[in-house]
Amino acid sequence: MKYIEEYRKTDLQKNLVKKIHKISKKLKKNIILMEVCGTHTVSIGRFGIRSLMPENIKLISGPGCPVCVTPTSYIDKAILLSKMKDVILATFGDMLRVPGSFSSLEKEKANGSKIFVFYSPYDALKLAEENLDKIVVFLSIGFETTTPLIAETIKIAKEKNIKNFFILCGSKLIPPIMEFLSQDKEIEIDGFICPGHVSVIIGANSYKFIPDKYKIPCVISGFEPVDILFSIYLILKSLINDRPKVINEYKRVVRDNGNIIAQQVLYSVFEPSDSEWRGIGNVKNSGLRLREEYKEFDIEEKIKINIGEVKEKKSCFCGEILKGKKIPFDCPLFEKICNPSNPVGPCMVSFEGTCSTYYKYERR
Ligand code: SF4
Repeated sequence: MKYIEEYRKTDLQKNLVKKIHKISKKLKKNIILMEVCGTHTVSIGRFGIRSLMPENIKLISGPGCPVCVTPTSYIDKAILLSKMKDVILATFGDMLRVPGSFSSLEKEKANGSKIFVFYSPYDALKLAEENLDKIVVFLSIGFETTTPLIAETIKIAKEKNIKNFFILCGSKLIPPIMEFLSQDKEIEIDGFICPGHVSVIIGANSYKFIPDKYKIPCVISGFEPVDILFSIYLILKSLINDRPKVINEYKRVVRDNGNIIAQQVLYSVFEPSDSEWRGIGNVKNSGLRLREEYKEFDIEEKIKINIGEVKEKKSCFCGEILKGKKIPFDCPLFEKICNPSNPVGPCMVSFEGTCSTYYKYERR
């Protein structure tokens, strides 16, 4: 298959691994590279890339799984909404099993709450049109990749004057969280493997401030093993040359300025706002809220959602894992109690969650 087979060629992979080992010898200290995309986490696990690295090159996962970074308070709000008479909740499927303080949407659905799973927010809008006596709330989560679609759906709802369709705002932006992590002295990231999908929308230039301000090289990578190995090599080369910059390894898909139309749709409906990330806390301008002219679609403008006290699972290390400070093997619950059939934290729920990926591909 074009664009897949040539990026999985064994001889290319072997050659790149050799080059990585050779260049790593020139680096004086241990190097920490963070991938900021759940799909990269899966690829790294699936193709065994972590095990191919020299001892001084450590690959860590960041907050790149949209489900994993959604805070407990958001799940609690969604659960409370799902219990309200006349409310129908619409969501992407991954959200169902994410634990809130006391329950999950999956449990509430089993208890009779009206919760529907959709692949597109547009289907939730159609549901609202078919149920005019109900309030349909779509759970708006995800990064720059999914939010243009949600924005377009809201525009259509406004044009059609649909009054019973709302969203619960929870969408997030990638560059601000990368900036937040770049400033964290406890992790000291040496290089970022930038997310491929998000970069399609925001473009390679969006990361320029990271090497300029924090001297951290960024490589936008595709998802095949040759892509990832080559991206690692490029980061190491930038470190050796001491010339941190943004390199676009995924040129077959990502442009310098991204998808301008998608950006225009996104920012005509949403604007940046502070946002809470699970385990990380509030990060300035890292989320999206509806602009004034679209506020009528924000469910929190219509209904006061009082969730009370949020209860975090103290034994779960998801917060530290999302910051790259711990790995799933550090968690005492990993495998013993927490597994994909019985997830304790969100990183074990999502297919792209770090714990779920380690469980599937990297168990010792
Ligand atoms: Fe949380 Fe389970 Fe991951 Fe531990 S293994 S950090 S409990 S999701």
